[in-house]
Amino acid sequence: LNLKAMETSTKSLISIEKSKTSKIDKVDFDNLAFGSVFTDHMLVCDYKNGAWENPKIVPYGPITLDPSAKIFHYGQSIFEGMKAYKDIEEAIWLFRPLDNHKRLNISAKRMAIPEIPENYFMEGLSALITLDEKWIPKKAGSSLYIRPFIFASGQGFHASPANEYKFMICLAPSGSYFSGKVKVLIEETYSRSANGGVGYAKAGGNYAGQFYPTQLAIEKGYNQVIWTDDNTHEYIEEAGAMNIFIRINDTLITGPTSDRILDGITRKSIIEIAKDENIKVEVRKITVTEVVEAAKNGSLKEMFGAGTAAVISPISTFGHKGTDYDLPELQESYATRLKNRITDIQYNRAEDKFGWRY
Ligand code: PMP
Repeated sequence: LNLKAMETSTKSLISIEKSKTSKIDKVDFDNLAFGSVFTDHMLVCDYKNGAWENPKIVPYGPITLDPSAKIFHYGQSIFEGMKAYKDIEEAIWLFRPLDNHKRLNISAKRMAIPEIPENYFMEGLSALITLDEKWIPKKAGSSLYIRPFIFASGQGFHASPANEYKFMICLAPSGSYFSGKVKVLIEETYSRSANGGVGYAKAGGNYAGQFYPTQLAIEKGYNQVIWTDDNTHEYIEEAGAMNIFIRINDTLITGPTSDRILDGITRKSIIEIAKDENIKVEVRKITVTEVVEAAKNGSLKEMFGAGTAAVISPISTFGHKGTDYDLPELQESYATRLKNRITDIQYNRAEDKFGWRY
């Protein structure tokens, strides 16, 4: 990353209004929750008259919207989730950020939102993170969670795409997402996505639609839902807001991405790292029947979710049709091995043979 070149180009593209005071002294960096405190600045970029205006970095705070803004009525809203990491030398790293940019634009296209140019995204990210650099936690497992998002700010009750949008980036210093054992319920009634739908987009409404079925699962004593296909509820698709991996004997299996499944950056990185570790990986459809059979005959060794927030989240129990199946506690799990490899790359503790660090 050529900081000098970027400073010059950032000057012309992005304007910066610095906050007069900082909230940083009020933050307890040793006890950070996930995504609940925000840094001193945010990036705002308006789309008006058919074009993106220059991004502005301004003090973090509330924004004003017209009550008829289409985000409120028709849910044109997409987002990304990524992290900035500090290494022991205090250098700052991102992980495959260009892939987040590409995915944001894939989501944008599906929701009839104008795409954001790569330099707006990348320079905006770099300028904002550099300005709020002190907010990147140094504690192991902690990072700066980055939330880029775009929504329809344009007015009108007509059910059609808005003519104005806002692209914003907010930063939240965060501790680890979830610790402890995850008990999941394989969903048999509700679905998060369907063929021809918007499951592959990070669209706000996808998450709203998950809350109710997840609440029902929580009432039954589970932490999360395992999403299955909307047609037969027989194919395993995702784990909450994470992709899912299942280990049967020594083989690691994950479903192929489709228009129902989000193309997770952690998922595709884990596939490559596993292959590099000489773990047998199969990207193929996997059925609930196969997993239940494997649990019964002892060949089911591990199940884990994979995503930016939690990195890898091992599942200890899954419920299906009124029965709970416990997974074995392994001394040497793929989950631990793969999590160590990916976080060593993210925090610059190991060589990055894949070229993922930025
Ligand atoms: N699936 C869904 C539905 C998600 O929201 C996320 C989080 N972005 C993921 C999978 C994991 O994707 P990533 O590894 O890129 O964070």
